[in-house]
Amino acid sequence: MQSSEATAHQIRANWLRVQQDVSDACRECGRDPSSVQVVGVSKYVDPPFAAQLVQAGCTLLGENRPQHLWSAAEYFQAENIQYENSTAQWHMIGHLQRNKIRRTLPLLSCLHSLDSERLARAIHEDLESRDATLRVMVEVNVTQDTQKTGLPTAELAPFLEMLASLPRLNVCGLMAMSTLGATGDQTRREFERVRELLETQQANVPGTHELTQLSMGMSGDFREAIMAGSTHVRIGTRLWDGILQ
Ligand SMILES: *Cc1c(COP(=O)(O)O)cnc(C)c1O
Repeated sequence: MQSSEATAHQIRANWLRVQQDVSDACRECGRDPSSVQVVGVSKYVDPPFAAQLVQAGCTLLGENRPQHLWSAAEYFQAENIQYENSTAQWHMIGHLQRNKIRRTLPLLSCLHSLDSERLARAIHEDLESRDATLRVMVEVNVTQDTQKTGLPTAELAPFLEMLASLPRLNVCGLMAMSTLGATGDQTRREFERVRELLETQQANVPGTHELTQLSMGMSGDFREAIMAGSTHVRIGTRLWDGILQ
């Protein structure tokens, strides 16, 4: 499909509906809607559609494939894509291979999916060489899915201790996914487990780094995630209603 005025209209309507649904979910559990950020996941579409999402007002975008992020970022730069004078911010929400670090990190404002010491050390080295810092979240695996990514929860405490020796990583929270196909109740319990982990670890994280953010919830389970305290819902499919076949 080609991007057009019709797709721009559809994407704007989807964005408004997602914002409304997120606000409603917040109100239902007594949370302030401004405490939850929507990360618009652009992985399903070509850069011109992602650009229309930014122009509709969704300036925080998430990608799980570095190459896809690079081409969209390049397109945005070339076309000067903005919303009310704000350019898009990128969050990396999927696995980052070490050979893609150098080219990806300068484009990111946050990495949600840190889950290994090797990756953490390689990122830290790159940041040091550019005298930069990066916000990161640690991805934990609270599911029954053995092939899911993320750190086993038993390894979280030693991992956070190790991260304390990498000062260029500003560790700001945890990311998690729920078990694919789980019931609403199980999903909610899994997300609540992540919030409990965050609360338990808060005391262990030294100094200036604050562990306060929770990246949980996608198109199918953002309500459960918001009830459990999510601060970043990563929404893809619902934003591309009528655009994807
Ligand atoms: C694709 C993806 C999403 C978005 O999922 P939808 O169900 O399409 O909303 C969120 N988080 C991660 C890590 C993803 O890979």
